[in-house]
Amino acid sequence: MHVAVPYIEGMLHPRTLPSIAAQGYAPHLYVHDRTPGIAPLYRHLFLRMFASGEDVAIVEQDKESRSGFLASYEECPMAVCFHGYQVRQPFDQAMAGATFASFGHIRFRGHLGARLLELTETDRWKHAHRSECEGIVAQWLKIKPCLHPGEVVHHHPSYCG
Ligand SMILES: [Zn+2]
Repeated sequence: MHVAVPYIEGMLHPRTLPSIAAQGYAPHLYVHDRTPGIAPLYRHLFLRMFASGEDVAIVEQDKESRSGFLASYEECPMAVCFHGYQVRQPFDQAMAGATFASFGHIRFRGHLGARLLELTETDRWKHAHRSECEGIVAQWLKIKPCLHPGEVVHHHPSYCG
């Protein structure tokens, strides 16, 4: 499993990489900037992340993974798996909202890489707002994402949303 950490220069939280390494995985860094917009950004990231054909786990720059979370993705037979985390709403609402499978801490099976790249060429994707991307991915793949128990630590809740 390829563990990808997309980040913006200066925004990588000091606990993100150690939280991955502590589970026995090597984090792969993907530096990017926000200027080209979300659609070309994800196209660029998906191209590189899925290049090897391996399963891809994404852990965003401000997330702290927890013991056993990454291994649970390898043990689960589902195609898309993720963990929830707090955003800017109370706990119960955050969990209810977690079914949309945010990209913060998620694993895609390697064979989905080609479908994700196709998606980035669609008009729907090119015109999507940042907040719509995860929902569009779930609809495009026609896969119900699998929510794993437990929450990732979200270190910059005020930055997102
Ligand atoms: Zn799962």
